[in-house]
Amino acid sequence: MSDTLCVRWTITANEYPQPLLYCRRCCSTRPYRTGGKVRVNANGKRIDAWLIYRCTSCDGTWKRPLLERLLVGSIEPEFLSRLMANDAELVAHFASDAEDLRRHAQKLKEVARIRVTKSVLSGDASLPQVLCIGFAVPHPVSLRLDRLLAEELGLSRSRIDRLAREGLLRVAGSNTARALRRSVRDGIQVKVGLSGRESTEVANRASGHMA
Ligand SMILES: [Zn+2]
Repeated sequence: MSDTLCVRWTITANEYPQPLLYCRRCCSTRPYRTGGKVRVNANGKRIDAWLIYRCTSCDGTWKRPLLERLLVGSIEPEFLSRLMANDAELVAHFASDAEDLRRHAQKLKEVARIRVTKSVLSGDASLPQVLCIGFAVPHPVSLRLDRLLAEELGLSRSRIDRLAREGLLRVAGSNTARALRRSVRDGIQVKVGLSGRESTEVANRASGHMA
């Protein structure tokens, strides 16, 4: 009999983050959305590539730099041909990279719709003492780990903080307090010590048995 419940949460964004940028046509700050088109420009030996975004009000264009003045020889030919073909997986990778997007836009429109797909790897949810959550995040999302845990486990953020301070909640291989305030990343593992009446409900939520 195992008292450890291991689950995997796969996090995907239903919508890519939208940079809030000043639109000269609208004379106002607007969210910009990408349609997934990449533009590549070769100038002699140098390559530029941009992901195209459009103002959600007037369709005005913003070009998000992906490659800037890179030497042709320094780019993998396969990567370049995928860029030129608007490869969906590559576009998804760039479009969901909120941290890089923040280099160009001070503010992003919050991506509210995040999907969490939960599956049980081992153990059962009846009365576990340890909950182990492994995160799969195929493309970076902008979502703080503590917010995600609070929301999905049905606990308050202060409760999550307290569990971390008491050492009952740990992020493997990281400074837990810092990791909790950062965006959830692929491969992160969180261990939570459970006790009492709460444990079954938390375990049920963690394994997706309860909305
Ligand atoms: Zn506009």
